[in-house]
Amino acid sequence: GTLTVGELAKLLHKDASEVIKKLIVLGVMATINQEIDMDAILLLAGEYGVEVEVKIPVEEDTFETVEETDEEADLLPRPPVVTIMGHVDHGKTTLLDAIRKTNVTGGEAGGITQHIGAYQIEANHKKITFLDTPGHEAFTLMRARGAQVTDITIIVVAADDGVMPQTVEAVNHAKAAGVPIIVAVNKIDKPDADADKIKQALTEYELVPEEWGGDTIFVNVSAKQRIGLEELLDMILLVAEVNDFKANPDKRARGTVIEAELDKGKGPVARVLVQHGTLKIGDAFVAGNCFGRIRAMVNDKGRRLKEAGPSTPVEITGLTEVPLAGDPFMVFEDERKARAIADRRAIKHRQSELGANSRVTLDDLYKHIKDGEIKDLNVIIKSDVQGSAEALKGSLAKIDIEGVRVKIIHSGVGAITESDINLASASNAIVVGFNVRPEPQADLAAQQEKVDVRMHRVIYNVIEEIEQAMKGMLDPIF
Ligand code: GDP
Repeated sequence: GTLTVGELAKLLHKDASEVIKKLIVLGVMATINQEIDMDAILLLAGEYGVEVEVKIPVEEDTFETVEETDEEADLLPRPPVVTIMGHVDHGKTTLLDAIRKTNVTGGEAGGITQHIGAYQIEANHKKITFLDTPGHEAFTLMRARGAQVTDITIIVVAADDGVMPQTVEAVNHAKAAGVPIIVAVNKIDKPDADADKIKQALTEYELVPEEWGGDTIFVNVSAKQRIGLEELLDMILLVAEVNDFKANPDKRARGTVIEAELDKGKGPVARVLVQHGTLKIGDAFVAGNCFGRIRAMVNDKGRRLKEAGPSTPVEITGLTEVPLAGDPFMVFEDERKARAIADRRAIKHRQSELGANSRVTLDDLYKHIKDGEIKDLNVIIKSDVQGSAEALKGSLAKIDIEGVRVKIIHSGVGAITESDINLASASNAIVVGFNVRPEPQADLAAQQEKVDVRMHRVIYNVIEEIEQAMKGMLDPIF
């Protein structure tokens, strides 16, 4: 229900006149007997540092509470979803384009390629879905928003260049997500290509080729000359088979928004990846905080579809607003229900933006440890030189306070970037900057995402700070 300004002031133990002034500052004009809406209540609560619990009388099942309870017999194999990552200019885009062209078979020829954020090809009569936005930034941004869409990562490394900083980032981002890695050693057509040098360099990051006793698959390719593409696709299918990716196609669809925009002609459009169930024309759905009813579905070949099963990317129309990339997507039994869920999500979202957050910080680490919520403290290290990053890594790895340890999920040289913050957010990590500072974008993202970033110049201080935090003896900073 709603409250009048007067009632709210009473609840907050404030003078009504003060509350009215606050509201004016917040851009809300109100008198004492006026009812104010939930937005304004949440804003005010945020101003006064008061927690508000919103109880909305709708049915309990939301995205979070609908459980994936599938009978083993209902689960069928589904195509793997693949993301391509790697250093800039190592050939990610060229490889994506080359793969897209591998199977312009009779049936599909003539179809007009649509950019819908992902595409599907067929190899050995099996389908594979590729996400069209290469790079670990997009990958981790999705994860930071709670979406897990990738099954397999291809790390592209140019054989004439070598393992570069973004290669290492990509490897660490994929590892933090627990996604299997295939290495594509690209540009082997170049005269100065040295595939063995790449293999050697990657052993340092625990990617050891099978012929050297490891379990990482390496494939030599040339995206430009279209060499080794079939083998790469075979290897993707092999990894998919080993991992046994499955989904139940026979239920209401749910998935993730990959991209969304306001199209001049079509209105809000979203490109979604169906991950469970089957999406059908006419389905009522929620995407993030938006709702709608599927008006039309188009695939990556520009074909109109009536249905889309697991691992299928489709562009949908019929939304009332534009959702965000990474937003969860789910079908509900009718539009009324979908609208109620979307409203509820919007309110929850605003609440969490106003502070309620479970992200780990050094200040509340001890509480999380005591409550048994945290077993490892995930840390990202950025430093000015490789040597100090290594030294810091070595020292932090030795910390063990009553079974709680430090896990370095990524370390690198250079300023703290937005991508570091996204990784921290996706992996519930803190960021330590050693003789470096965050880039302005990263600073902003850290504030928004409430990621704890600590800057230091002395290794001993980093260790002491983390040890104290683990013991609950850190002096809070005001
Ligand atoms: P991205 O930044 O990783 O997406 O890299 P691009 O796909 O844009 O490729 C960067 C450059 O490398 C382009 O000029 C490509 O033509 C070139 N390139 C990509 N793959 C190959 C390859 O297999 N062989 C050669 N010789 N050049 C390639």
